[in-house]
Amino acid sequence: MTKYDYLIVGSGLYGSTFAYFAHKAGKNCLVIDKRPQVGGNVYCEKIEGINVHKYGAHIFHTSNKKVWDLVNSIVPFNRYTNSPIANWKGELYNLPFNMNTFYQMWGVRTPAEAKAKIDEQKAEAIAALNDREPANLEEQALCLVGKDIFHKLIKEYTEKQWGRPCSELPAFIIKRLPLRFTYDNNYFNDSYQGIPVGGYNKLIDRLLKGVDIRTSCDFFEGYASNWNETADNLVYTGPIDRFFNYKYGHLKYRTIHFDTEILDTPNYQGNAVVNYTDSETPYTRIIEHKHFETFGNTVYDNTKTVISKEFSEEWTLGKEEFYPVNDEENNQLYNKYKELTKSEPKVIFGGRLAEYKYYDMAPIIEKVMEVAKKEFSGNH
Ligand SMILES: Cc1cc2nc3c(=O)[nH]c(=O)nc-3n(C[C@H](O)[C@H](O)[C@H](O)COP(=O)(O)OP(=O)(O)OC[C@H]3O[C@@H](n4cnc5c(N)ncnc54)[C@H](O)[C@@H]3O)c2cc1C
Repeated sequence: MTKYDYLIVGSGLYGSTFAYFAHKAGKNCLVIDKRPQVGGNVYCEKIEGINVHKYGAHIFHTSNKKVWDLVNSIVPFNRYTNSPIANWKGELYNLPFNMNTFYQMWGVRTPAEAKAKIDEQKAEAIAALNDREPANLEEQALCLVGKDIFHKLIKEYTEKQWGRPCSELPAFIIKRLPLRFTYDNNYFNDSYQGIPVGGYNKLIDRLLKGVDIRTSCDFFEGYASNWNETADNLVYTGPIDRFFNYKYGHLKYRTIHFDTEILDTPNYQGNAVVNYTDSETPYTRIIEHKHFETFGNTVYDNTKTVISKEFSEEWTLGKEEFYPVNDEENNQLYNKYKELTKSEPKVIFGGRLAEYKYYDMAPIIEKVMEVAKKEFSGNH
């Protein structure tokens, strides 16, 4: 049996990018994943010829040119620009908060008029605090953007996401609420954004080219107790508490449930992302997947479309771990597990689950570039 240099647990962007650099450095790798396919959360399922983001909509964005150049050297990216729409009880608003939103909200046409309106509402919220600091997310957001934007575009959406009233959520969740006084609906401030041409599976398949892969293979059902018979080193990207057999207890997450439907219409909502910011609508967003990869009237070339409604849910064991709940209690618990990693010198713990941290895709790649540089110094 081949003994590998690295056994990589998890074929998400962390594991796949690590495997790419290891392979380039002449190392022998085996990547395993408990899911039936590779790619982790960026995996797309082809339905009616459309790449459906099965584990949630993924938009790649970065200002790091090295990361952008790397991913584009593997697969070219398209010109998708994220510009979501908010639907509050049927009223439509552009996001992020910008001059289009302010015009739709109040009919104001100039930045000066918009600023005056927002300043007036912010002042009202600050005065209501009577010189004390905002005690919760609701007070914090009211002080940052005023009552109209808060009530129509933040409050009920955030409550659906977290399953708790904004008045019971900590203020730190919303540190800043950027307001843009230009007519610019581009959600991200980054220099580069897009979707891989042909979808994320192309990116993952090319990252994993030349690497041995086993899917539907859970590390804890076969390798965990004797992985060092298979490889000299381990890269672990699964949940950290699971690695240490939940010794100190379970880390908490929020999860999302997706209702995906095929519709007999070529263009359902005219945009990839529509957020439902009222409490009457049970879901938080509708994603219409074809808009990530087809633009203008080419959307009509396919007479069908696929949409996913997203429902934010409390996580229980067995459900997908999506967003870590980085409150004090869970961060402390994570730090205890992190201490244990020090006694595992041959294991690299990386990625959103092993580091119990929300990472966008580009920072994951940046992180792996750093780790690989250390690990394979001089080899790439
Ligand atoms: C809903 C949602 C939307 C997102 N949208 C964006 C976005 O628009 N833009 C952006 O930049 N980022 C986005 N992200 C973040 C992005 O998903 C992460 O940056 C990326 O997935 C991290 O890759 P990873 O390899 O760390 O984790 P993952 O992709 O989760 O990969 C981990 C892999 O490990 C496998 N695994 C776990 N345990 C085991 C085991 N015991 N044995 C074998 N395999 C195992 C899992 O099956 C999984 O395939 C989003 C995240 C979520 C949750």
